[in-house]
Amino acid sequence: MNILTIQADRSLAIIFIEMKDIDQFGKQLIQWYIKNHRRLPWRETDNPYYIWVSEVMLQQTRVKAVLPYYQKFLERFPDLRRLAQARLQSVLKMWEGMGYYARARHLHQAAKLVLKRYDGKIPDNWESFRDLPGVGEYIASAVLSFAFNQPYCVVDGNVKRVLARFFLIDAPVNRSASLKIFKEAAGRLMKPCRPGIFNQAIMELGATICRPRNPGCGSCPVQSLCSACQSRKVATYPIRIPKKIIPEYHMAVGVILKNDRILIARRKREGLLGGLWEFPGDKVKEKEDPRQACVRGIKETVNLSVEIDSFITRIKYSFTHFKVVKDVFRCRHVFGEVELNGPDDRFRWTTPRQIERYPFPKADHKVIRLIKGMNFS
Ligand code: SF4
Repeated sequence: MNILTIQADRSLAIIFIEMKDIDQFGKQLIQWYIKNHRRLPWRETDNPYYIWVSEVMLQQTRVKAVLPYYQKFLERFPDLRRLAQARLQSVLKMWEGMGYYARARHLHQAAKLVLKRYDGKIPDNWESFRDLPGVGEYIASAVLSFAFNQPYCVVDGNVKRVLARFFLIDAPVNRSASLKIFKEAAGRLMKPCRPGIFNQAIMELGATICRPRNPGCGSCPVQSLCSACQSRKVATYPIRIPKKIIPEYHMAVGVILKNDRILIARRKREGLLGGLWEFPGDKVKEKEDPRQACVRGIKETVNLSVEIDSFITRIKYSFTHFKVVKDVFRCRHVFGEVELNGPDDRFRWTTPRQIERYPFPKADHKVIRLIKGMNFS
């Protein structure tokens, strides 16, 4: 019996595994993967640029939602040079609706740097690639192992779940200090295998068979080796620490009309939704009416005095750490010239037809559809 002990901060994981089981795990997993994996376009290539784009998109977004974006993005920017030479607004437009726009901004900046520093050739060593904007440990491990077959473990939520069940790891999967434990465990299993295909296979197992609810243990290629399955503890693993309650913010914004045109403003590049366009407004303060908040917010952020004509709609959306409820009002410009004092660095008075040229957060698309059906006279 081989005992693997892993210490990460205050967590200690002791994993019992026989060496022959490690070999068996990789062999059975990879055989299963070759026959059964989903045919996804980024798996049928070893082009590092395609793999990089897919991995950036797949962070925070599901495979099904990524597929159409991936195809369109590569049609528009078929290689790194084209991406590096594009305007940020065009890149954000291709990303529009997928959310987490910092991913697109960083990918664009990183492409520019690769063009400048490495003549457009994506570096195949950890230090140089990891040094690029938006390239964290996860992206670096994924691209270097999938495209260059380098021995870096890719440990996402799916992989952690497989490992937690396979080894009965008690470290909570949603605590950052646990990552070291899961990486060590994955590294042990990966050793006898080709890194790229091993990583793909264990991710696929977690995504399709070792699912969070109702895992398909009956069709799992490593069932006979799995500790949770053998000890009937599958439902107990993985361990999670309870989630914190996510705060909710109330916003009030205005579709401001002046001579048949609408005011839109662009958020500053850095920060949340950076580089995207929006309708001006502000958070609703405690005990404030949303209509008052809308008028006040517009005055404070874009220096216009407006009157509210009507309520248009309420939209709701979530970010990782908070939720937003946004009330949208139709407003009439009364007086004042635009001066940007808030989160935006540029503005336009646009027509309802032209508004679609600008990249907006997905939640605002409902407002844009409603604006197009509005009477402006
Ligand atoms: S046997 Fe079940 S719990 Fe164990 S790895 Fe396979 S699917 Fe997951």
